[in-house]
Amino acid sequence: MAEQFPEIKKKLGFGCMRFPMQGQQVDEEIVKQMVDAFLAAGFNYFDTARPYHSTASEQVLRRCLTSRYPRESYVLANKLSPTFYEKEEEILPLFYDQLRVCGVDYFDFYLFHANSAVRHEKFTQTHAYDIVKQLKAEGKIRHIATSFHDRAEVLEQILTEHPEIEAVQLQFNYADYEDPKVQSRRCYEVCRRLGKPILVMEPVKGGSLAALPPEADALLAGKSPAEYAIRYAAGFEGVFMVLSGMSDLHQMQENLSFMADFQPLSSQEQQVVGKLRTLYQSRNKIPCTACRYCTDGCPAGIDIPTVFRSANDLHSDQGGSPQQIAPEAAKCIGCGQCAAVCPQHLNIPELMTHLAENP
Ligand code: SF4
Ligand code: SF4
Repeated sequence: MAEQFPEIKKKLGFGCMRFPMQGQQVDEEIVKQMVDAFLAAGFNYFDTARPYHSTASEQVLRRCLTSRYPRESYVLANKLSPTFYEKEEEILPLFYDQLRVCGVDYFDFYLFHANSAVRHEKFTQTHAYDIVKQLKAEGKIRHIATSFHDRAEVLEQILTEHPEIEAVQLQFNYADYEDPKVQSRRCYEVCRRLGKPILVMEPVKGGSLAALPPEADALLAGKSPAEYAIRYAAGFEGVFMVLSGMSDLHQMQENLSFMADFQPLSSQEQQVVGKLRTLYQSRNKIPCTACRYCTDGCPAGIDIPTVFRSANDLHSDQGGSPQQIAPEAAKCIGCGQCAAVCPQHLNIPELMTHLAENP
């Protein structure tokens, strides 16, 4: 744990963007059981944001966590999502609404959400950095942080301009470590050089590193693929938190079992990760993490991550059918709203055009 944040008890956080579902609704009975299991095992970090679950995540947290446990028993992170405000004067009402909906009177961590060159411009023009600093001075925020999806140079610029940012949340996993678009390693190095503790998001890459092809089984030595992925990320110097968007109780209990007394990967396990990386990269051609940031605004109603998952499955002989993929992809009208919000910088309209013709 980072010594700056002694309130955090363990290195695994509950990412609240992939709750268990029953049909279209979050299954709150299961979420309550997961919250109970998580806290009982000595973990206490929860991460949410206004857009998660089409704005339902904060409400679910109030009903399943904050109304059921004393405030000091959990650490709650929330975010300023620039897609939820237009003008400067809308920031404070949004923030206070987030407190109200979450049922708390302060956030332990408040992050600039998915910061990037474009979003930094908006945060700057709307004086969001100043407003968040003021909220911290008033005790409504304990720590200021940023999540980040862009090039390492942009991260360095933001952190240099804003020394008040205490920690950085990076997409960091063994598949993206050297990815030229995600730039996990380079962003990590910026954080280390500037002395910023790191929170990891997407350690299992939207679940795709937990669903490896059958050839992986022989390499795993009885451990789960998620264990390799999470312990890989958690073992880096300076990483004080790894978030996992756990979607059922079994998944949570498995993660808790190996993160209760965290041990970094051995050199032998690191070699296994190298082989898993090669296997993964040969099979997953479209690196969608299923974050679903793109889906609400799609005028054609395309379930974009499902189309990409099916295409990856088809490509790797794990199911998926051209008859499902091509007609869905062909609905795309090329408006580009999805690409503008995709943290993986996928050229979604181009991919849809391609999949409509060659699923
Ligand atoms: S470009 Fe296509 S997939 Fe993306 S939002 Fe527009 S219609 Fe939907
Ligand atoms: S296409 Fe991009 S925005 Fe949409 S779910 Fe995948 S990673 Fe997220």
